[in-house]
Amino acid sequence: MTLRKLEIQENLQIVNSRIGLAAKTCGRDPSEITLIVVTKTFPTSDIEALYQLGIRNFGENRDQEGSVKAPELPDDCIWHFQGQIQSNKLKSIANWADVVHSIDDLSHASKLSSLVDQKDIFIQVSLDDQPNRGGVDPENLEEFVSGILAFKNLNLRGAMAVAPLGQEPGTAFARLKELSNQLQKFHPKADEISAGMSNDFESAIAHGATHIRIGSQILGVR
Ligand SMILES: *Cc1c(COP(=O)(O)O)cnc(C)c1O
Repeated sequence: MTLRKLEIQENLQIVNSRIGLAAKTCGRDPSEITLIVVTKTFPTSDIEALYQLGIRNFGENRDQEGSVKAPELPDDCIWHFQGQIQSNKLKSIANWADVVHSIDDLSHASKLSSLVDQKDIFIQVSLDDQPNRGGVDPENLEEFVSGILAFKNLNLRGAMAVAPLGQEPGTAFARLKELSNQLQKFHPKADEISAGMSNDFESAIAHGATHIRIGSQILGVR
């Protein structure tokens, strides 16, 4: 095993045991939490090492990277796009990404719907006071959800968010859980929550995250 693969294996073991502990602490079954390893900026060789270590869920933020890396890995990988969407990249994103976590604009949803047979999506909600890092304003969530449900080939799986900087993550993730409940009133199947990064995933798990997106804690600083 290469030194790099050993390092990744060790980091992965630490993260997995932290996930297990966080789940146990709040009485959840760790198997209901999907670890997405965020591989943005890291080379395909790292993704191959992760694959050999059993990881199948990978996250990328940029079409330019995901569209190159995804075809280099075996077909049983599940690719997650979680970056800001540029409309002119949607066709390419739809080609390699199995799940799009960052839907916050109905025009993107409309375009995506016209490009695919079927696609899994999350609605990104903003937990910021001044929305700037993307996400639907919670005040507009219900209207946004009914807009999304008009696109029958988009499979709405749940809500996604990034905890705002300089705020206690627990407060943000508790709010996200409320918004997820609000979403489920419209669409009971959309009960998944994509939340939690390297610095706050235990808190996200405590507030019901089903998908955590971890990069630097496993692969190192970017
Ligand atoms: C980069 C990124 C992550 C992973 O962040 P780390 O701090 O490296 O774990 C998760 N989610 C989104 C939306 C990201 O942009």
